[in-house]
Formats: sequence, structure tokens, C-alpha cells
Amino acid sequence: MSIQKLSSVLATTYENFPKGRFITLVVLRTTHSETIFRTEGSGEPVCSEFVQAGLEGENQKTIVQRLVMTKRKQVAPERRYGREHLRAHELLYTNSKDGSLCSLNTNSPCEMCVDCFLYGFAAGGGGAQKSRIWTEDAFSILPASDVVGDRTINAIYENGTMRDEKGNASTALNTSEYIKPGVHFLDVVTLKDVTADELRYVIGNILFTSRYGAVSSRVGRMENQILGVFGSITELPSSLELVQATYDVLDKPLEHPLNSKQLITASKQVIANWQNKRGVSVHLSEAELFNLIADVETYWSEAERDSFLKRLSQSYEPFRQVVSEKKKAKGKGKNNSVEVES
Ligand SMILES: [Zn+2]
Repeated sequence: MSIQKLSSVLATTYENFPKGRFITLVVLRTTHSETIFRTEGSGEPVCSEFVQAGLEGENQKTIVQRLVMTKRKQVAPERRYGREHLRAHELLYTNSKDGSLCSLNTNSPCEMCVDCFLYGFAAGGGGAQKSRIWTEDAFSILPASDVVGDRTINAIYENGTMRDEKGNASTALNTSEYIKPGVHFLDVVTLKDVTADELRYVIGNILFTSRYGAVSSRVGRMENQILGVFGSITELPSSLELVQATYDVLDKPLEHPLNSKQLITASKQVIANWQNKRGVSVHLSEAELFNLIADVETYWSEAERDSFLKRLSQSYEPFRQVVSEKKKAKGKGKNNSVEVES
């Protein structure tokens, strides 16, 4: 029952006002196929940044170019995963303005479903919910030059050759950068003021999402593992600091592909020190982490999923009513409150 160990940093129920409870998930993301993080066909290069290789000694003077998996590239597929199940269990709501079903990246969030309450929304009509899932850019351990490949793509005609029926050669040649299989990204995900069921929902979305990036039906297979879970009253070190500290610990020289086990051992060694960081009150042990994942898998299982998702959805019911009453009041032109968003 490891989720109970986190009770001091879990909310007992959803509340409109934050109370400074942070849960940090340390996530290792490993590519299992060629992966492309860019908008399809846009021709942008793979996203990368120049950063210090490590935090200690010579490593802090060495500058490397690391690959970046941006926030959006992480959270969008994970939200979509959860929403597939909300849709399957009929837990997405209809938007009151135009009657359309809640959908991402449009101007019509329903403001009532689990996804809207947890990941936030900004509706054109003034309603807004801050996301309580804070992600940040994840960085590769190895430099971009070691883990990015180039592939020339030529358009093949339907007859399976490079020439069409009239014998004209295909001119559609393109080179495309891709991230190699076996590349590791370390990532820190912060959950703010979530309940036990919300935590189970978010961890499920992270663990069960397996495709990321562009052209995701053909490439982009990725595996996520949770290496550590912390409870605290503040944010813990960033993804970049985690990557740099892990780099310091690893035996050099480093080459692609990195041994996953060695990397996991090094990362766990780094995060073990976070117990002494300011504000940390809970660090799940290996056994407790294992139990937490087992708990999440139980609630997401075929037998439990329907009642789990419905119970989570039901937990927002009192807040849905408040919203609709407020809107009615606004409609009558009375009690208009000014909403300030920072
Ligand atoms: Zn919604």
C-alpha cells in the first residue's frame, strides 16, 4: 500500500486552490525504434541545446550538444492515451458553447472531464484551469552527434520502383534526421496537489504510452520507466541537473548505445541524494515503488478500469456544478467576478 506512504503530499479531494503538495516522478524514456520529434514534413532539424556536460570538475567545463524532447512532445501523446480511455468509457463531456465533444488543440475543452481538470485548459470564453502536471524538457545523456542519424528517403512509386509507368525517375529525394533506437532521456515530472486516483491516472498515462513524435504509427516506439517517486513541498532538481549529475557518475568514455542497467544504477545513485534536498518528506523505496506501479496496473486493468475512471470522473462533480452556476449568474449580468490569471 505504497500510495498511502504519499498521503502527506496527496490531496484527499480535488480543490480549486493549491496547497503546496508536490509529487515528483523521475522518468527514464528510452527509444526502441527510430524516432522523429518534429512536425511531419516541416524539415526542422531535431531539437537540441548546448549545455554543460556535467556538474563536477572537467565535466562542468565541457560543453555538449544534447537532444531535447520538448514538454509538448511528452505530454500530448500521454494526454491522448488517457483521453482514448475516457472516450471509451464515455467520460468526455460536451462543450456547452458549441455542443462539440471535448477535444485537444481546439477551442472547445469541455471543462468537465478528468483530462480538463488535471492537465488544464484555457477556454476562449474566460474559463481556465491551470495544469497540475508540470513537465519540462527532457535531455539525452549522450551528445546529439552520437545519437542522431540521417536517412535519405526517396519516394517510391506504386509499382515499387523509382520510375513511374512512363519511365520517369522519381525526383522526390529527402534527407531526414532521426533519433536512433536505444537513446535515453531523463525526465522530471512534477504533479501538484493531486489525489491518489489522479496520481494513478497520470502514472498510467506515462507508463502505457508507447509512441511519441512525428509519423508515430511507423516510428517513435518508446518505453517509459519510473525510477523514483518523491513527495515534497517544493520542486526538486530539474531534468537537466539530473542528466548532468548522472553523466558525472557514469564511467567514461561513453558510447552509443549506453547500457540501460548501468544508466539506471547511476541515475538511482544520483536521486538517492535528493532525500536530503530541502522540502523532501517522502522517497519511495524500491519495494514501495514496485508496489505503487502494481497498484496503478491493477486500477488500469480490464477488470477495474471502468469503475476506476468513473470514480475519478465522479470526484469532480461538485466542482462542475459550481462552474455552471457561476455561468448562469454571469448570464444574468449579476455577480460578475473579475478573474485574474497570472
Ligand atoms: Zn474535457
